[in-house]
Amino acid sequence: MEHKKITAIFPGSFDPITNGHLDVIRKGNKLFDCLIIAVGQNPGKAEFFTKDERIVMIRELTADMPRVTVESYDCLTVEFAAQMKADVMLRGLRNLSDVEYEFQLAMINRTVAGIETVFVMTSEEYGYVNSTMVRQLALLGGDVSKLIPETVYQRLRQKIAQKPPALDTDVPE
Ligand code: ADP
Repeated sequence: MEHKKITAIFPGSFDPITNGHLDVIRKGNKLFDCLIIAVGQNPGKAEFFTKDERIVMIRELTADMPRVTVESYDCLTVEFAAQMKADVMLRGLRNLSDVEYEFQLAMINRTVAGIETVFVMTSEEYGYVNSTMVRQLALLGGDVSKLIPETVYQRLRQKIAQKPPALDTDVPE
């Protein structure tokens, strides 16, 4: 019997993409036939990199992964998943506190849109990395070079040198 091709969607704001996100993407690249990285905006978070900047960075970093595509979206994640005909949502788990939030999100998405969520556990070394922490640390002059890919690090430094943005006050994701 022919294997049905499975398309997964990995949604997030990726502001910026971290080594933790990339770890989830590499794992997803091995698990699914197609993996769509869906770049959106969390309404509760101020934008640091523009969506176009985030997309360019992610495309560069996934250029060697033929099953991966990167798309932008503005609507509800489940609506975009349906438009893309995605079979499942992919989400990363870092620790136990992620589980509670992600569990709720997965239940809501299943209830409202009937879509299942597949979780992957991040590799241990990325368990503490999140984009908010990266932005805040970088704005305060901390060394974030081990938390994000080199190309992202260079752009982050450029951005901060150009125009130091105000520190955002959103809760860590
Ligand atoms: P959002 O703004 O929607 O929280 P993010 O871009 O922060 O989106 O994260 C998108 C997805 O990536 C989420 O499933 C999140 O749990 C996961 N993720 C973020 N950082 C890591 C990490 N360091 N390791 C594993 N998964 C992560």
